[in-house]
Amino acid sequence: MRPNSVSSDLPVKPDLRALPPGLHFVSTPIGAARDITLRALDVLAAADVLVAEDTRTLRHLMEIHGIALAGRSVIAYHDHSGPGALQRLLGLIGEGKSVAYASEAGTPLISDPGFELSRAVAAAGMPMTAAPGPCAAICALTVSGLPSDRFLFAGFPPAAQGARREFLAGLAGVQATLIFYESPKRLRALLVEMARCLGPDRAAVVCRELTKRFEEVSRGSLANLTEAFSTRDVKGEVVVLVDRAPPQTASEADIESALDAALTSMSVKDAATFVSQTMGVARKIAYQIALTRPKG
Ligand code: SAM
Repeated sequence: MRPNSVSSDLPVKPDLRALPPGLHFVSTPIGAARDITLRALDVLAAADVLVAEDTRTLRHLMEIHGIALAGRSVIAYHDHSGPGALQRLLGLIGEGKSVAYASEAGTPLISDPGFELSRAVAAAGMPMTAAPGPCAAICALTVSGLPSDRFLFAGFPPAAQGARREFLAGLAGVQATLIFYESPKRLRALLVEMARCLGPDRAAVVCRELTKRFEEVSRGSLANLTEAFSTRDVKGEVVVLVDRAPPQTASEADIESALDAALTSMSVKDAATFVSQTMGVARKIAYQIALTRPKG
């Protein structure tokens, strides 16, 4: 470990020193309660105001870790709580209070509430921090065995078949590992649709119940996984990951027009890198063609 790469003052007991005023996002476990971070506990112990998507879940988590409410109530808030609730929280931060916000599980804003709050606090120029921690998408990517150099978190696909097909078709060419959240009830239908829209041979991974007792990681092609889950009733929570699209066989004319567009705002080097990554062509080839194009 590099020296000074992490703070060394890690008290075992919660740190009750005052938190600075502002909004403090707190990531919470996605399964194993011990995945809470010491800093998350510090924030929960010291915040003037506790706010949660689900007040019972936060109270329970604090109880498990011995963090006293100390007379504080827990305010319920999510992105649809309305402008009044949002203004109330902004008002509290404006008065100099430290406000801790936790969603039901994992990292706030990641397919969870918090975005409207984050946007409003940023727009108001108020202070904001995050105590980072568990996130199912990152946990799944870590154990998937799929490339992690570039990934696209796609959230929950639409439930309606037409919209879902369109959504998947729009992601078919993306040169990045794709990460989806899905309800276990819709997993089978999603895999069928993915094999159809993204191709049956693409490598994919289904991660179920991460960090929990029945954690399971299934790897295979989309065709294999569709078959494997065709007769199983899946329970629990799942993340589905799909490998990037195979390199495209773009024509020289396609590469030229992509480079011409990129060269209007980028240097030759950057345009070649951009086109090579987005079209899946070798950078050397993109660079050689870029050198022959008029600078935009
Ligand atoms: N904010 C959370 C995060 O940081 O991952 C995600 C919340 S979202 C409402 C819930 C979805 O996350 C589930 O439907 C599932 O797709 C995924 N998820 C959450 N916990 C999980 C777990 N332990 N194992 C697998 N997937 C999980």
